[in-house]
Amino acid sequence: MTAQCIDGLALAQKIRNQIKQRVAALTAQGHQPGLAVVLVGADEASSTYVRSKERACQESGMHSVCLRHPATLSEADLLAHIATLNRDPAIHGILVQLPLPAHIDARRVIAAIDPKKDVDGFHALHAGALMLGLPGFRPCTPYGVIKMLQAYSIPIAGAHAVVIGRSNIVGKPMALLLLEANATVTLCHSRTHQLAEHTRRADIVIAAAGQARMLQGDMIKPGAAVIDVGIHRDTSGKLCGDVDFESVKDVAGYLSPVPGGVGPMTIAMLLENTLQAAEQQLGHTASF
Ligand code: NDP
Repeated sequence: MTAQCIDGLALAQKIRNQIKQRVAALTAQGHQPGLAVVLVGADEASSTYVRSKERACQESGMHSVCLRHPATLSEADLLAHIATLNRDPAIHGILVQLPLPAHIDARRVIAAIDPKKDVDGFHALHAGALMLGLPGFRPCTPYGVIKMLQAYSIPIAGAHAVVIGRSNIVGKPMALLLLEANATVTLCHSRTHQLAEHTRRADIVIAAAGQARMLQGDMIKPGAAVIDVGIHRDTSGKLCGDVDFESVKDVAGYLSPVPGGVGPMTIAMLLENTLQAAEQQLGHTASF
């Protein structure tokens, strides 16, 4: 392996230790930050993510509430639960685990979360703020990727960054965050012609296409930084990402593994956003 491994697990732990101290300080003043995670249905991957978020929240010393609802929950009832959480002073952050069952309109649900508590940063207010370069909660996964690049002193300003995937929760905010950090950004998707011609020119490649091992070593410029956002379980039950680790590791300059890369950073950024939300709601820091 010639690529330096970007250890998301270690970096996330370092961030979580700092968060723990700030949580303890707030709690000592009688203000324990609180996060509510809402899960609808029993999707296996979603249940695992929710458990990890709940554990991380408890481990940081935050108040943690996890509301698990059956897949048959109506949209109206979900909106009513969100309204209750919006009013609850012990809850500073609300996260609704996506995807939601097909009969529920995720856009209406996201819009119903009080933007002050939207620690996922998916509300139109935060998406708009990111677009305009204004402060707001940044979506946890792309925010975590930026922190990874910064922690390894990978130059972003002036670099050519290629993002594969244009979802509202990963690809689009990722492209905007890179642009904000002065990268020259190319945003690719399933209709992009000759994807490899784009990725081969990139100094930074962010793979968020949701396609197992689609990014191969011959699609990468030697020395490039490659961040793997994808999470998949292959036929042998092993976790893997969107990057073919075996072929990319000998070409890239930096490479984030799956597991142990972006996943733990996403959770660390969720805690960071929740703490920031609590500090704002308690009046300790200015609101956005
Ligand atoms: P989506 O399915 O919502 O979006 C995938 C995007 O990739 C779409 O924009 C799609 O294009 C594009 N795409 C699909 N196939 C190709 C292809 N062959 N070439 C180029 N582009 C392609 O996924 P998400 O953004 O929600 O998630 C992406 C991956 O990241 C998933 O594996 C998910 O599990 C993982 N994930 C990991 C997180 C973490 O914490 N590590 C957090 C969130 C997600 P089009 O728009 O044209 O359809």
